[in-house]
Amino acid sequence: MNAPRFMIRINPALPHKPRVSVLVIYTGGTLGMVYDRTTGQLIPFNFEQVLDRVPEIHRLDFEIDLVTLSDVIDSSNMNPTVWAELAQIIHRHYATYDSFVILHGTDTMAYTASALSFMLCNLHKPVILTGAQLPIGVARTDARENFITALEIAAAQENGQPVVPEVSVYFNSVLLRGNRSSKQESVHFNAFHSENYPHLAMAGVRIEYNRPFIRPYEPDNELTVHTAMNPNVAILKLFPGITEPVVRAILTMPGLRGVVLETFGAGNAPTALWFSEALKNAIDRGVVLFNVSQCEGGRVTQGQYQTSTRLQEIGVVSGTDITTEAAITKLMFLLGQETNSARLIKRLGEPMCGEMSV
Ligand code: ASP
Repeated sequence: MNAPRFMIRINPALPHKPRVSVLVIYTGGTLGMVYDRTTGQLIPFNFEQVLDRVPEIHRLDFEIDLVTLSDVIDSSNMNPTVWAELAQIIHRHYATYDSFVILHGTDTMAYTASALSFMLCNLHKPVILTGAQLPIGVARTDARENFITALEIAAAQENGQPVVPEVSVYFNSVLLRGNRSSKQESVHFNAFHSENYPHLAMAGVRIEYNRPFIRPYEPDNELTVHTAMNPNVAILKLFPGITEPVVRAILTMPGLRGVVLETFGAGNAPTALWFSEALKNAIDRGVVLFNVSQCEGGRVTQGQYQTSTRLQEIGVVSGTDITTEAAITKLMFLLGQETNSARLIKRLGEPMCGEMSV
């Protein structure tokens, strides 16, 4: 297991009582990487060295504890086992800390944010993911601003209540709902966006919160953590000219339980008989099909065009305006949790924690 390795405590508020306490969980990613002298490639490095590069942290007026996963990873190696470990760390320390910041590679941050939003049921404390496009040791790095502002937002309280009690992504001045975020950019600093849901906050001279769109603080229900995920899923992205053998090869894979079907526009797909038959055969064998649009903005509306009516008829579930990242993690999550297929399909088509609109 990827158990947390060590803990560092920073308490700049001393000798005064800290305003709040934040647990930072370091998983890896560019933020904490260095250039390997021999290969010139970016590789993860020790978190204590990362902290030395952020002296500003000692000016914050709250207590910060830091843990690091024993295997610090490039987030391309992220997987459901590490998601479960992150959820368990938060669960174990939930009563001790007011909020959590996860330092994560940008490549799969939106997947992790989505997965955690489903795993952490009845969350009422901030869990903020952030990272960087440039390593923290580089002069022009975006890591320091992202990290410090994520900490500030994690610590933000009003009348003793957290301002952002949900899983979110902070990057390049914007705070996004985690399960609405996508990585859009690998070169410029504006790496993340949320096409179908407004920003939760904008950080300029002041941090301005977009309160009507932030989940309300509801502490009455206790946090429960569900970590079982079923990885027997696939994403089938359509393209003009896709052939029958490709579609059938994916849909008849042994053990397959669910597929995110990335369709055109408002959820449209070819009307060729072989195509709808391949989908219907899969559904008859118990494979769950979830319709997500290749367009970043807008939504799936099955039945709006003739090219999506058949999908509706055979029982493909509409993902409305969900992202592919949230769709695939939701599918893994529900396949891991639900044994009753009617209930699974119902839950898949309804918002669970703000990941889609109906
Ligand atoms: N490959 C890196 C990662 O996702 C990229 C980054 O952190 O920006 O871990």
